[in-house]
This record gives sequence, structure tokens and C-alpha cells, in this order.
Amino acid sequence: MTHPLFRDDAYLRTCDAEVVDINDRGGLILDRTIFYATGGGQPGDTGYLELDGGERLDIAATVYDSDRTTIIHVPVEGSPLPEIGAKVVAHLDWQRRYHMMRVHTALHLLSVALPFPVTGGQISEGEGRLDFDMGDTQLDKEDIKARLADLVAGDHEVTTEWITDEELDAKPDLVKTMSVKPPRGSGRVRLVRIGADVDLQPCGGTHVTRTSEIGTVELGKSEKKGKQNRRVRIRLVD
Ligand SMILES: [Zn+2]
Repeated sequence: MTHPLFRDDAYLRTCDAEVVDINDRGGLILDRTIFYATGGGQPGDTGYLELDGGERLDIAATVYDSDRTTIIHVPVEGSPLPEIGAKVVAHLDWQRRYHMMRVHTALHLLSVALPFPVTGGQISEGEGRLDFDMGDTQLDKEDIKARLADLVAGDHEVTTEWITDEELDAKPDLVKTMSVKPPRGSGRVRLVRIGADVDLQPCGGTHVTRTSEIGTVELGKSEKKGKQNRRVRIRLVD
């Protein structure tokens, strides 16, 4: 298992680490990492590893191994690989990640502004979308945009807490996103809370610590996806 430093502090941009394994496809496994691995609709991080001699090894993608606890750093093709046991310094593409953190947190707020069951979602660098099961309910974009702006301006604190699988089973209402099951197996599930009671839901992603960091959010094009689903897009305005 890789120690996921981003889980406790999403603002770390560098960390020291050791190469503990290299898989048969050249993927690097470190003892600890700041690189978020693809999951829950959020793409994995990119950046580079600084090797002992100062060389730079660019990381094109970060994914989980099949065990879901080992994180694989995928080097840009053709890169010379370090030895197992090598000490490295990991550097995040912080600008890209910070955009993801802002979009990701904005999507939590979208699920508050538009309180319908979420059937899917995707985050990219400056944009994100959620699919809502909202039937024929009309979408008032100006109203949603105003609600989002209120929630951002409220400067609500974003915090994490943990509950056991059993506690989550007893509170099924916490799960808003039907398509992304909270990770199971470790016996506990991470919850992300916004404000005292603005939002609370299981999530393993990276978020900003205050909603004011999200900045201005615009609503993009929305479209019907099948009979029940409406896809709603947001984007950051910088
Ligand atoms: Zn989240």
C-alpha cells in the first residue's frame, strides 16, 4: 500500500519518497505520495519525480493498482527509470491539481444547489459536470448560478471525518452519488463536510479548504441524457 499524503493535506506540492517497486509496465510505486490517483470522477495527478542526480522524470498519469491501495506513477513513455530503493522528490503539477480541487469542491456545492440524486460525474482541469436524476423538472440556470455564488461567498470550511462501514450503512441518505460507490474494505469511509451542515457525503477526492477559493462559477450547457438524466456543466472563471 502507498501512504496517500494528499488525503490528509491536499495542499502538499512536494514530498520526499522512496521507490519501493517498479511494475512490469514501468510504473513506479513509492512508499508515500502527494499524487492523487484516478478515482471518483477525478483524474490522477501529473508532475515529475526529481531523482538523486537531479534528473527529472515526468509523470504522465497516476492510477491505482488492482488492490485499490497501491498507487502507480506512470512515467512518460521512454523515460529512463530509477533503481528500486532510489530516493526521489515528487513534484506536483500544482496549477492543474488546484483547478481540479476547485472544480471538485464546486461540484459538491452543485449537488446542494440542485438537490437531486446524482447518477454520474466527471472533473477536468477547469470544468466539471454532474448528471442528475431529475425527470422533467425545469432547470433554472440563473437561480442555480446565484445559489452557487452564495455558497462560494459564504466561505464555508471544508473538512473531512471518518465513519465505519456500519455507520454508513445506517445512514444511506449520505450517499448522493449512486454511480460512485464509497470505497469499502478498509472498514471505514471518509466523509467530506462543507460548513456545519451545507453538505456531507462520502468522498475520497481532493478539495479546497474554504469554499471562497472556488471563485466565480459559470454554468455551461446542460443536456438531457436519457429519460431521467440531465447533465449539468460548470466551469471556473479566472
Ligand atoms: Zn469530493
